Order: sequence, then structure tokens, then C-alpha cells
Amino acid sequence: MLIVQKYGGTSVANVDRIKAVAERVARSVKEGHKVAVVVSAMSGETDKLIGLANQVSSNPNEREMDLLLSSGERVTSALTAMAIEDLGHKAMAFTGRQMGIVTDGVHTKAKIEKITGDKAKKALDEGYVVVVAGFQGITGSDDEVTTLGRGGSDLSAVAIASALNADVCEIYTDVDGVYTTDPNIVPEAKKLQKISYEEMLELASLGAKVLQTRSVEFAMKYDVPVVVRSSFNDNPGTLVTKEDRDMEQVVVSGVAYDKNQAKLTIMGVPDKPGIASGIFKQIADANIVVDMIVQNVSGDGKSTDMSFTVPKTDSKKALKLTEEIVSSLGAKASHMRDDIAKISVVGVGMRTHSGVAAQMFETLASHNINILMISTSEIKVSCVIDAKYTELAVRVLHEAFGLSGS
Ligand code: ADP
Ligand code: ASP
Ligand code: MG
Repeated sequence: MLIVQKYGGTSVANVDRIKAVAERVARSVKEGHKVAVVVSAMSGETDKLIGLANQVSSNPNEREMDLLLSSGERVTSALTAMAIEDLGHKAMAFTGRQMGIVTDGVHTKAKIEKITGDKAKKALDEGYVVVVAGFQGITGSDDEVTTLGRGGSDLSAVAIASALNADVCEIYTDVDGVYTTDPNIVPEAKKLQKISYEEMLELASLGAKVLQTRSVEFAMKYDVPVVVRSSFNDNPGTLVTKEDRDMEQVVVSGVAYDKNQAKLTIMGVPDKPGIASGIFKQIADANIVVDMIVQNVSGDGKSTDMSFTVPKTDSKKALKLTEEIVSSLGAKASHMRDDIAKISVVGVGMRTHSGVAAQMFETLASHNINILMISTSEIKVSCVIDAKYTELAVRVLHEAFGLSGS
């Protein structure tokens, strides 16, 4: 078999962990597999580098930021290859560029366009373990170093698995699979044997960081079988794959939370055609991604209040824009709250079951948790609440939908 194994930050956090990864890789080689390894930076390293950038500049240039951040993964790829060689196996480390990972030019969140990987394919054929620095690529047009967004080594791994036509892409992390909710918040969370790409995509985009959202999108599009496992033990992991009958039987398969959003409200907006399009065009032009939107017409029907959520990192920029909008539209006021959280329940079974939203609202109400915003899709219901109730909400919803216990 050809296996891609991705090791996240905690799995390569220090030299002992890197040696343990090398042992695991060596075991797969001894079992007769060809192995391509993708590594993250040591845990905390990327944050540390961002911190350094912020100390030397109030607005670090994104081009230089990518050059800086890509260095963390270079370190672990070289060290991992050395550790594998030390165990008597041939290994060769590759940067994103040497792997031929070609991306668009959007610094700090580039998209992979293609992977050439000829040199790595040759090395694999010659019996080398190939160790690739995750999270990075190079632009096709002008050789600029790019990174793939936070958590982007997952995407590197899935894309490499697809390019190499690997039999499986194993994501090794600090939990032994995808759980019904974050096991670090709810110890009763249960490990899922398998989960559909669609549910995993919802969970990831709603805050479950066990897999990066874009890596799931990529896996779904190119049909890459992904297994999430622990690098700390040999427990069987979770298979992320196509939806099947068993999955539809379960109404809610997981609960996710996201504390990285902020809510903005513009009050007293004149209620006439074209206003929403005007507001959200300005926000989109500033490259801010809007998630939930709620509009309420006032009693007299002449004005509306408009609330929406944006990533916390863009909240100040968004507030400044909404203040400009308030004065240009003659609205009354705007304000921003970043002490909020989005709590979501996800499951493909919701397509054929009614009452999930009602049960979610009732559960939150019975614990005196106020709902600030709601949004639904075919397979998820999300509520925005006060951030201080996040853990409580996740726990009681997990319990209410029967996800706890055996
Ligand atoms: P890595 O550094 O290996 O990429 P991450 O920290 O990005 O690891 O992702 C693993 C973490 O994801 C876990 O430690 C866990 O706290 C979190 N997580 C959130 N939701 C879930 C879930 N539903 N199942 C498993 N882990 C989850
Ligand atoms: N090191 C990068 C990050 O911390 C990429 C990754 O770990 O996947 O976001
Ligand atoms: Mg991660």
C-alpha cells in the first residue's frame, strides 16, 4: 500500500515525539508499505513566529509572513527524515516547493492548484520515505512562498494523498479519532467509527478543529479516504468517507462550538430595497467573510436592525466599516460583541427527521441560555449564545441528543 501519514504539532512537539513518529513510520515501512509523511511545525511554533512578527511590525507584510511561518514545518520535516534514517531506513525531506505544491498567490491562505511531485515520486519508487513540510506551497507564476491557512498541514496531506494516488491518508493527532464533540470539553464524548465527508465538513467549518475545513472539502471532492488516529497509541481511528445507510440512521452525530466569531449590529437601517446588498457588498469588498445574518423589521415598518457575524480577527475592521455605513445610510447606531459563541448540532439524519431545532432551543432554554441568533441548513442547526455558556451548552446538547454514555 501507499500510505500518507500526517503528524500534527503535538505529535512532533519535541525530539522524543519526533523519534516516536520515526518509529511509527519505520513500522509501516517494515510492513511493506510505501510511506509519504507530512509534518506540521512543533506545537506552538507557528503562534510563536506570529508573535515575533507582531513584535517587529504593527502590520506584518503577508509575503514575509509566509516565508517566516513556512520555516516551522521545514524544521520538523528535516528532523523527522533524520530520525527515520537513524533507524536504518532511507528518508528524504522536501519543502513545499521541492514537492511541487503549486498554489495561487493569496498569501497566508493560498489554495493548492496542482502538485507535480516528480522528485518525490521517484524517491518513493527508489525506496525512500518521503517527508514533506506541510502547510506550504509555491506560486506557479513567480516562485513566491505561500502558506495554506491555519491547520493547513491537513490540506497538504490530503492533497498529496490525492496526487500520489495513495490508498489512505492517515491524520495522526492528539486524540484517537473524531468524537461526537470535543473530548477535551466533554469527557463522555464518543468516538465515531466513521463519519461522512459532509458531516465532517460541517463539524470542521463549525469549529471542530480536528480536521481543517479545506482538507475535508478536498478529500470529499477527490474521494480521498481519510483516517483520523492518535500518534500516542494504536487505537483504531475514525474513517471519513462517503455517506452510507448506517449514518442516516443517526439524527445528530456531533456537536461543535466556535468561539472565534464576533456579532455586529446596525440599528435603525432604512427599510428599502438595495440596503442589504449595499451593506454586504462593502463588507465583502474588504475581504471579510460574513456567516450568519439576521434582519428584523421594526414595528412601524420603516426601519430594520441588521445583525451578522464575522471572524473575530476581522471584527475591528468590520466595526469600522459598519460605523461608516451607519453615517452614510442615516442609520441610528452600530455595535459589536465578541463575547459570543456559535454552538451547532450536525447530522445527515436531520434531512429526514423533524424537531431537531425545536429540541435544541428547548434544551438551551431549560438551562437559561439565551439564543442571540439562529441559522439552519439541511444537516445542521446553529445558535449564537453568550460565550460564557459555551461549555455548558455543548455538554447539555450532547446529553440531550443522546450522544453521551454507551
Ligand atoms: P494537530 O495539531 O494534530 O493538527 P489539532 O489541535 O489541530 O491537532 O486538532 C486536534 C484537536 O481537535 C483535539 O485535541 C480536540 O481538542 C479538538 N477537537 C474539536 N472537536 C473535536 C471532535 N469532534 N473530535 C475530536 N477532536 C476534536
Ligand atoms: N503549523 C500550522 C498551524 O499551526 C499548520 C498546521 O499545524 O497544520 O496552523
Ligand atoms: Mg490541526
